[in-house]
Amino acid sequence: MSYVNKTEYMIIPTNTFNILRGCAGCGYKQTFICKENFRVNANGNFLDVWLIYGCNKCRHIYNLPIYERIKADKIPKNEYQSFIENDKKTLFRYGTDKSVFTKNRAEIDWKTVEYKVTPMNENKPDFSKMPVLIELYNFCDIPVRTDKIAADILQISRSKVTQLVNEGLLSVKMVKGKEIIQ
Ligand SMILES: [Zn+2]
Repeated sequence: MSYVNKTEYMIIPTNTFNILRGCAGCGYKQTFICKENFRVNANGNFLDVWLIYGCNKCRHIYNLPIYERIKADKIPKNEYQSFIENDKKTLFRYGTDKSVFTKNRAEIDWKTVEYKVTPMNENKPDFSKMPVLIELYNFCDIPVRTDKIAADILQISRSKVTQLVNEGLLSVKMVKGKEIIQ
């Protein structure tokens, strides 16, 4: 089928990811909130870099490793600087990079992740001309319901979305990726 209207949207998190983990202070699983700062520890020629998390309920801290025992000269100067300065963009990049959490077996608290859905270009799609293809670029692999997002974009009900999909007038495709285009 050729689509008259193809339109692309990005799903972008609006906050850094929080972590669900057992808290030694509370004695059970808690949400650990990203403290929006890095900690850099130098040990001889080696560096550790962590993103700092704090229990939602008590003062316990969890350090999410970004680099562990890496040779200092392996970190580019500007990146090192952004760790020291707690650069907002760098915090956001690491704090929403699913691979960092996966690597450290840190469970992302998806319930506390908020996101926005933004058109990728200026051209307003003409939804009066069916069929429509909606491509959703989900760079951070946030678990979302495509029917809900399509309903929001088209400003129709979810059941209407299902109906249009079943009639072949609408297709919603999720595209996953790693890079955030800004
Ligand atoms: Zn706690």
